[in-house]
Amino acid sequence: MTVDYYQTLSVAQNASAAEIKKAYRKMAMKYHPDRNPDDREAEEKFKSCTEAYEVLSDERKRQIYDTYGHEGLRSSGYNGPGNAEDIFSSFGDVFSDIFGFGGSSRGARSRRDGPIPGNDLRYDVEISFMEAVHGVAKEVQLTRRDTCWTCEGSGSRPGHRRQTCPTCNGRGQVIRSQGFFQMSSTCPQCHGEGEVVTQPCTDCHGSGLIEKTKKVALKIPAGVDTGARMRLRGEGEGGRRGGAAGDLYVVVHVQTHDFFKRDGDTIFCRLPVSMVRAALGAELEVPTVYGKKNIDIPAGSQSGDHFTLKGEGVVSLRGRGKGDMVVELQVMTPTNLCEEQKKVLRDFDTLCVQHGQHKEEEGFFKRLFNEVLGRS
Ligand SMILES: [Zn+2]
Ligand SMILES: [Zn+2]
Repeated sequence: MTVDYYQTLSVAQNASAAEIKKAYRKMAMKYHPDRNPDDREAEEKFKSCTEAYEVLSDERKRQIYDTYGHEGLRSSGYNGPGNAEDIFSSFGDVFSDIFGFGGSSRGARSRRDGPIPGNDLRYDVEISFMEAVHGVAKEVQLTRRDTCWTCEGSGSRPGHRRQTCPTCNGRGQVIRSQGFFQMSSTCPQCHGEGEVVTQPCTDCHGSGLIEKTKKVALKIPAGVDTGARMRLRGEGEGGRRGGAAGDLYVVVHVQTHDFFKRDGDTIFCRLPVSMVRAALGAELEVPTVYGKKNIDIPAGSQSGDHFTLKGEGVVSLRGRGKGDMVVELQVMTPTNLCEEQKKVLRDFDTLCVQHGQHKEEEGFFKRLFNEVLGRS
């Protein structure tokens, strides 16, 4: 398909190189694959505007195109810009203006007035076990560098412009000779930007950013666990020179609980039960994260026996409903017995011997002597 390159970039036939670049920058920023993940249409638009820019920004190619059109370009050997990575490496310097990073020379951000996006920030928040189970809304106070609106992030006092850096003459790089070698390095005065603020904004002292404390509302959903990350768009550091603000990543840490433990959506707890009730069977009251539940344990329940309470676990973040709760019995041996209790237990023991109910113990010792110690 042949679309007019000038139309693609919405510029006039006689547009200057600067106008073409400006138009491309605007479109590339809008349709860049990083900003439109999995959007085929945006990718196509990005490709076609890049192709137009590649031709119109090259004086020779533009001349061929103006005179002979698409046909002429093809016979001159031009085959379009290729895929996004190729585009990126061949136009790294343009993208460094746009996105604040470059394909090859990050230090050489020498283009004037390019927007610089703000940095992403990380905030660690600690919540209780129950807050993680039920979800919680929190308001946190964050101090971060925000765009200075007095100078709109330019760093210069309103009405003043940045000046070409005198150290590097605007190149952003300085060349130093060391013996045979010439070393090029980022200009120390302008940090590679090629321009310096000569009339600094009185509010931000030329940095374009100003420290601000802001309240940010966090809505932490039920079911989160330690390590969960939430992204709050535009709540990171402010951008400069019209760049977008960065994002804020909130990383969740969940405190441990004295009673409940958790593995994914499943909650575990240990439930103490008296020796007598374990032996006779009983209805027990179990605390859950949602309240209380009763479970029936059968006669003869042992320490370590498990009981599952369906749907008493944590809400699944993947939308699979609620997990289960697993209760593990812990049979308690009675202590601090009175004389009467001791007597009852001794009588009980006598009955056990009469019923042959010590056999399990006897069996254990027989096996120990025979198999493990090799005696009989
Ligand atoms: Zn410089
Ligand atoms: Zn300022």
